[in-house]
Amino acid sequence: MTNTRKNKMALLYGVNDVRVEECDIPALKTGEVLVKVEAATTCGTDLKTFKRGGHPQIIKSLPSPFGHEMTGTVVEVAEGVADFSKHDRVVVANSAPCHECYYCKKEKFNLCDDIQFINGAYAQYLTVPARFVKYNTHRIPDDLPFEKAVLAEPLACVLYACKKINVQENETVVVIGDGPMSFLFNQVINFKKARSIVVGLDPQRLEWAKQSGAALVMNTAEVNVAQEINRITDGFGADVAIEAVGLPETWEQAMALVSKGGRVLCYGGCAKGTKMSVDTYRLHYDEITLLGTFHYTPQVMDEAIELLRHDSVDTSLFTSEVRGLEDLQKIFMGKDLKPALKYLIRASSV
Ligand SMILES: [Zn+2]
Ligand SMILES: [Zn+2]
Repeated sequence: MTNTRKNKMALLYGVNDVRVEECDIPALKTGEVLVKVEAATTCGTDLKTFKRGGHPQIIKSLPSPFGHEMTGTVVEVAEGVADFSKHDRVVVANSAPCHECYYCKKEKFNLCDDIQFINGAYAQYLTVPARFVKYNTHRIPDDLPFEKAVLAEPLACVLYACKKINVQENETVVVIGDGPMSFLFNQVINFKKARSIVVGLDPQRLEWAKQSGAALVMNTAEVNVAQEINRITDGFGADVAIEAVGLPETWEQAMALVSKGGRVLCYGGCAKGTKMSVDTYRLHYDEITLLGTFHYTPQVMDEAIELLRHDSVDTSLFTSEVRGLEDLQKIFMGKDLKPALKYLIRASSV
């Protein structure tokens, strides 16, 4: 199959360096599809990757296609693709498990020993490799706009994490961090009819958290969070604490905020080689559960799409700032004039 289309795409070249280039689209191989990207969103992981000039799992060599949250329309289908055809509206999730390894056989697909990641959401077109077509590309229902469905991937991470920590109705859940993921946690916690408390540093973001349904917000620069949590829980502590920052000290802080029998979810990924100290007395005698979580499984993507379809998550907070590919450098350098939780990127000019 020959392809005459050109692809305008963002390429990550190194630390703080993303460039927009026009590239040829290679002919599709067996099992692949070509997707025209309709909407992509920026993400904290991309920001980290931009600042570090790569990512130990997601971007290992440079220059690299960039961006991993996207929705689009299938515009070409190679031979050997049974599940998709031209004009299908899809979300391509950013990982594909192998379905053959020790962990995949136990259905722990997020822990796959040979998990592959895809980048290239910040582009006009994305060639989707066969394994992704087979295991982690999801059709979007007709009544779900691209601009909402694009949040399926980060929402799947949050849904998977919330399943692990098993948030129950009426529980008090503290979310440490004021990044986009905290806002999704906040919404899922509300959806589960639990009480969400968002702890952060940025007054603007904390205000948004309040608007998006947090029962309470706390600015760590202004209050002693542990004392405040104690006060509002009659001295017991929170039922659940979710760390969504990615620092050992905030993992430790999370552990200090829960009651006896409390659960702590370590969601934010810390730098490799870092360690936290654990209060062994509390862990044992207070029966604290300390849980790690990574990524999501393809099955949770479908649940995320359903939640978005039924408007159970307010997406307007994340997608109201629309930018073009050329704005990515400015966005990741923090130089966009209007701060936002996420930016909706459209490869065709805005
Ligand atoms: Zn993401
Ligand atoms: Zn595997």
